[in-house]
Amino acid sequence: MAEKINIFEENNPENEDDSGFVNESYEELIRHLETDGYIQTPVIAEAFRKIDRKDFVPPELGEEAYFDSALAIGFDQTISQPLVVAFMIELLRPKPGERVLDVGSGSGWQAAILADLVGETGQVVGIERIKELAEKAKENIGKYGFIDSGRVKIVVGDGSRKMEGEPPFNKIIAAAAAEEIPEAWKEELVVGGRIVAPVGQSIVVIDKIKPDQFETKEYFGFSFVPLVKSKN
Ligand code: SAH
Repeated sequence: MAEKINIFEENNPENEDDSGFVNESYEELIRHLETDGYIQTPVIAEAFRKIDRKDFVPPELGEEAYFDSALAIGFDQTISQPLVVAFMIELLRPKPGERVLDVGSGSGWQAAILADLVGETGQVVGIERIKELAEKAKENIGKYGFIDSGRVKIVVGDGSRKMEGEPPFNKIIAAAAAEEIPEAWKEELVVGGRIVAPVGQSIVVIDKIKPDQFETKEYFGFSFVPLVKSKN
């Protein structure tokens, strides 16, 4: 039985009068995420500061890029809410040199933050089912040089399936909610690796202890777009 944690009781500090929703600058957004406890680790704060969310949202959204909310990026999809990205990356704890799988890379914002964290010796493989979004993600991430250098690779496909040629991964993170964690992810993970992914309205953290032994924790109270499986 997984340990269950309610994020809104345990993790959400008393910030009812100051939601951090509307911010005038990127720095203000990041400070909110820090004071509210979503960003806790200095290297993660630094990575967020380097990768400006505005570079990943449609230009007509303007300053909304700095609101703590999910925003439409086309094809019925959204760039994830900053506090959710922060919360999940803190749980994932990507380290320099690691290989990370980013399922549902969407705008590419999270993939770029992960790329900064894994450094020159690491790699992020992003998988996105919508071809046009994958192209856009490449363009957005390319602004930071991570596509040309090969630090980020974006592929088009169904991330719930086993991948060819890319595994194993040290870490797997997903931005679309499955009904259950795909078996493929557990197989594609190294022993000692971690998955952070939404399942229904929760974020689950799965640690691979041994090839056939996993430990799970669950954090309630989130909402995500669905993980869409291909039919054939
Ligand atoms: N991290 C992204 C989140 C985008 S929303 C960002 O912040 O921009 C989640 C994305 O998952 C959507 O782009 C959606 O198209 C994609 N997705 C849904 N099911 C998928 C699947 N089975 N394989 C790959 N991508 C998927």
